[in-house]
Amino acid sequence: MEKRPFVTKEQIEEIAKTYPTPFHLYDEKGLRENAERVKRAFAWNPGYQEFFAVKACPNPVIVGILAEYGFGCDCASLAELAFAKAIGLPGDKIMFTSNVTPAEEFQYAASIGAIINFDDISHIDYCERAIGQLPETVSIRYNPGGSFTINTAIMDNPGEAKYGFTTPQMYEGMRRLKEKGIKHCGIHAFLASNTVTNDYYPTLAKELFELAVDLHEKTGMDIPFVNLSGGVGIAYRPDQTPNDIEVIGARVHQVYDEVFGPAGMQGVKVFTEMGRFITGPYDLLIGKVLHIKHTHKEFVGLDACCVDLMRPAMYGAYHHATVLGKEDEPATYRCDITGSLCESNDRFAIDRLLPPIEVGDYIAIHDAGAHGHSMGSNYNGKLRHAELLLKTDGSVQLIRRAETLADYFKTLEGTEFYSRLDL
Ligand SMILES: *Cc1c(COP(=O)(O)O)cnc(C)c1O
Repeated sequence: MEKRPFVTKEQIEEIAKTYPTPFHLYDEKGLRENAERVKRAFAWNPGYQEFFAVKACPNPVIVGILAEYGFGCDCASLAELAFAKAIGLPGDKIMFTSNVTPAEEFQYAASIGAIINFDDISHIDYCERAIGQLPETVSIRYNPGGSFTINTAIMDNPGEAKYGFTTPQMYEGMRRLKEKGIKHCGIHAFLASNTVTNDYYPTLAKELFELAVDLHEKTGMDIPFVNLSGGVGIAYRPDQTPNDIEVIGARVHQVYDEVFGPAGMQGVKVFTEMGRFITGPYDLLIGKVLHIKHTHKEFVGLDACCVDLMRPAMYGAYHHATVLGKEDEPATYRCDITGSLCESNDRFAIDRLLPPIEVGDYIAIHDAGAHGHSMGSNYNGKLRHAELLLKTDGSVQLIRRAETLADYFKTLEGTEFYSRLDL
């Protein structure tokens, strides 16, 4: 599918008068339409709840918009829990899916009434020691090991992942929780990442629903919810077919009826913790061309760099790029798009065919809305840039200012060195 930016060059020129590049620009309209689709896709399940994976995009305005659709948060750290609480979410809309969890994080999660999702069987006793009485409702995370396949295609390798309980530990964990007087225990699994297929959730759901029935029968534990977690991907590449969440929801419904119908478990709630699918496509990283080098290759250098979007440098991930204002020009210029970091992997695109580029052109890097700004760092003394929201009425709102040098040096405040800084 052709990937078109949701803004024009003229709009960016106008925005840049107030907010200089680089910046992340989120699309409120796209975000809202997608949230509405997700809600509709699972509306057949009365207890359905999406817990947005905060790590994908921890901006309060963005998460505030999602909260309007009833979405909660999935958190993995103290900061993310504090974030979810400050958004105004009640405890039952905060999922705490952590791993290698410190005692104080269990304590804080318990204090705000978040749902604790155990990553390991040993965490049950550890958490109990940390917080005293365990809550009435908890959750445990499943990892069947091996590889996760759909029609013989390997999607991911849970057997290599650090997360979750093994199958025997699921049964043992449920029994142990029951002995401790826990009344309700949900189950959770995240078995494949960034799946661009409508088959992932339905396949996972079948496995988890069947497990839930068996766990209930064998241990007598009430299983109030099954959490399908994240993993629903997006079409980063133009040749990929985007997932259709309404098809996915309908197929999960079908599996739900097939498995829970005969077992008399139709009250089970379906939870999801999508991150990437919710915000990923609705943010463009906008950079301006500062320099063009003609050496052993063609290098187009932007004012943005990989600390604004780590995925290409970290995973060699593809992100589509558009030269704004040249959307319909033929792509005849082969180049690498780079940032200014002293790291060779600081490239948004390698050997990419684009329309001929000039200094001063604006380049939009697509699908930066998940693990984009949030994964940024200050390596090389780079400051994190602003986040802007293109609102449905066409106006632009600054939803996080750019960092300053004062922010960068703040943690050295009080030292003699700090007093010598000339900021
Ligand atoms: C990252 C993460 C998610 C979200 O994953 P996406 O692929 O972005 O949907 C959900 N749950 C947990 C526990 C995660 O770590």
